[in-house]
Amino acid sequence: MRIGILSRNKNLYSTRRLIEAGESQGHEMIVLDPLRCYMNINAKEPSIHMRGKELPTFDAIIPRIGASITFYGAAVLRQFEMMGVYPLNESVAISRSRDKLRSLQLLSRKGIGLPVTGFASKPNDIPDLVDMVGGAPLVIKLLEGTQGIGVVLAETPKAAESVIEAFMGLNAHFMVQEYIKEAGGADIRCLVIGDKVIAAMKRQAKPGEFRSNLHRGGSATLVKLTSAERATAVKAAKTMGLSVAGVDLLRSNHGPLVMEVNSSPGLEGIEAATEKDVAKQIIAFIEKNADKVNKTRTKG
Ligand code: ADP
Ligand code: GLU
Repeated sequence: MRIGILSRNKNLYSTRRLIEAGESQGHEMIVLDPLRCYMNINAKEPSIHMRGKELPTFDAIIPRIGASITFYGAAVLRQFEMMGVYPLNESVAISRSRDKLRSLQLLSRKGIGLPVTGFASKPNDIPDLVDMVGGAPLVIKLLEGTQGIGVVLAETPKAAESVIEAFMGLNAHFMVQEYIKEAGGADIRCLVIGDKVIAAMKRQAKPGEFRSNLHRGGSATLVKLTSAERATAVKAAKTMGLSVAGVDLLRSNHGPLVMEVNSSPGLEGIEAATEKDVAKQIIAFIEKNADKVNKTRTKG
């Protein structure tokens, strides 16, 4: 097969691993920088060009679209979809997962466990917002934050109100969330492919920190999941419509709670912690599914 990887940089760990895994199975792997692609959407035959040339036909596309280029990246992926190319994750599912509020609303509608969460932009009654989600301690998150930046633990109602006021001053959307203390500064990253969790790691925050992000000094180890955790992770990915997803769970005293569903999960941390060949399993999934979808699409 000829498989395209939509990625800004072919030297990123995950991109490199996918190239290696695909090539070792005899596939032609081509990295495409989505920002360099330009598209004709009006023609009867939709097409994509790069560097003055029309791209060849692809059997499958692996989107590795960073959050900062979601809008244009999703448009390029949609163009491939219109041309009948199999996307590992569909453009609509990626756009959906990048909208944290929409994602949590969808997940809650499906009855998936979530921390009690409130959304706000410019609330005119902050104490009521704090009460609404059960009072302090509370986790307050900037919607645009990544890698744990913009995630604050407020231990008292007064602290919560101050942080909320500060976020409002930034003209930012934010969410307020029940603090899951019993998670002990750890979260679980589940790598879902299709209807299975194929690897899982526990990320533990460094002492004195509640955020377990590796970028915040957290450390990752292999973890054994309960069947409830597996089922929750798979259901969360399915609800978002993602074939491949990184589902982040908190272990609460009332079962697994989903924090986030990531549509371009990084492979480095999880391959190192679990010693699993995640890239190879992604390629195997494509081998199994790309054909099927291409056939059904050309019919429609
Ligand atoms: P980001 O998307 O920036 O990584 P997260 O929402 O994943 O932000 O939060 C960062 C970390 O903070 C999580 O990995 C988790 O360890 C911790 N955390 C986030 N929300 C909660 C919560 N409600 N209760 C306990 N810990 C939390
Ligand atoms: N960007 C990484 C991922 O989505 C997470 C990095 C972190 O936990 O700090 O897999």
